[in-house]
Amino acid sequence: MNKTFSQIDKIGWCFDNTYSQLSSSMLTKIKPIPVKKPEIVVMNHNLSKDLGLNFSNITSTESASLFSGNLLPQKSECIAQAYAGHQFGHFTILGDGRAIVIGEHLSKNKNRFDIQFKGSGKTPYSRNGDGRAALGPMLREYIISEAMHGLGIPTTRSLAVVKTGENVIRETALPGAILTRIAKSHIRVGTFQYALVSEDKKNLKNLFDYTIERHYPNIKRSKTKAIDLLKIVMEKQIKLVVDWMRVGFIHGVMNTDNMAISGETIDYGPCAFMDAYDPETVFSSIDLHGRYAYFNQPGITKWNLARLAESLLSLIDENQNKAIKIAEEIINSFGNIYKKNWLEMMKKKLGLIGDEDNDENLINDLLLIMYKNKADYTNTFCLLMNKDFQKNKMFNDKKFIDWYRKWEDRSKKNNSFEETLKIMRTANPLVIPRNHKVEEVLEAASKNDLGPFHDFLKILEKPYEKQTKTNNYQHPAVVGEKKYQTFCGT
Ligand code: AMP
Ligand code: MG
Repeated sequence: MNKTFSQIDKIGWCFDNTYSQLSSSMLTKIKPIPVKKPEIVVMNHNLSKDLGLNFSNITSTESASLFSGNLLPQKSECIAQAYAGHQFGHFTILGDGRAIVIGEHLSKNKNRFDIQFKGSGKTPYSRNGDGRAALGPMLREYIISEAMHGLGIPTTRSLAVVKTGENVIRETALPGAILTRIAKSHIRVGTFQYALVSEDKKNLKNLFDYTIERHYPNIKRSKTKAIDLLKIVMEKQIKLVVDWMRVGFIHGVMNTDNMAISGETIDYGPCAFMDAYDPETVFSSIDLHGRYAYFNQPGITKWNLARLAESLLSLIDENQNKAIKIAEEIINSFGNIYKKNWLEMMKKKLGLIGDEDNDENLINDLLLIMYKNKADYTNTFCLLMNKDFQKNKMFNDKKFIDWYRKWEDRSKKNNSFEETLKIMRTANPLVIPRNHKVEEVLEAASKNDLGPFHDFLKILEKPYEKQTKTNNYQHPAVVGEKKYQTFCGT
């Protein structure tokens, strides 16, 4: 039985649950399944502060009970959300199979956040799953989502990880864990797809109105709300995927159920960061055809947005043909908007101001040289910023030397190299969560040594700044190491 924690004032919880008011066919009211022996592994004190929460007035036993769901804060209202999704292109009815939103918290400045437990036990949407999660993947989500936040990329955040004191069975028995995830909401493209096919025809309009009220109230009075919503979500997703491309992030499972309407990066499963620049990079062991490879991410974003557009058709115009025409026009504008945003981003990576006809060629030429030399994506831009050319074989390549002269010429349009550098520093992280480093700290954490995990997190808080230990995290994995693969059995 879950117990109730009544002293919520001690912590600062301010629950105001709205999603649970939607039709019962959109969700299931269900509580987390209590766990044996919860124990805090990590807590995010910075994020607690931002949310206006304070856990220092309660014991660590109480914290562990709270973050496992054994103890539920008064006024919380637990739900598992229903949604659908195109997984690798195939439509499936899904839902929170191992997650429960315990409520919506209003922070001091009245921003609304879902508080969600991931790994909290079976729900009616669990299908064949056990509803649970293992410690390694939950710590991995914690570190990568916090790294994304440090990189300035919209993302769900991680507030805490607890061990459950129970094992989960994957290929072997692993320690079970629950992650507390904080999100602007968990409304996905797949939530609209679910509402569209659900029997209750009112679901779609209700979800639509709810989404606008919650995320985009500025379009509430518009006469073309559905068109506006589609355009806003497209703009947000373009900005998001351009940010991913900027830092070499590969999401790995860009199914429509893993695309949030808020524009936050969500669902860290087989994601990973690219080392050597190769547009075809794929890490996920199940992505056999590279559907979600690095360079396919913009195209898949467009594909997913087309699924959102389909879901919104009846709200765009009563006349279906007219609605299709309008939706197609919007989706077809994706390419140009993406290109413009990508170019702007790449120009920042090279510190270029203004527009020159040859900018796109200059960028693509560098990428090609990087590809041919298997140059590290992150470090190439760091070396350009440092003018540190001894360390890398690419910098002796004649093609690169020619390119460099052209870049220098183009940069002269700026006042000084200092000015170029200032721009570059905003776009080029010195540190990303490199796969071998992530594995290293997770390995230590599995042996109860959380020191390396916290050291890494500290560096990842400020990835654009040189810190004393930054250098320890900048080296790519040694060439010849086994190809890094991520797995979905999380
Ligand atoms: P994901 O690949 O994490 O986006 O998950 C896809 C779907 O599978 C979602 O509906 C999840 O809730 C569900 N799922 C993933 N792992 C489990 C699990 N261990 N038990 C139950 N459902 C799960
Ligand atoms: Mg998912």
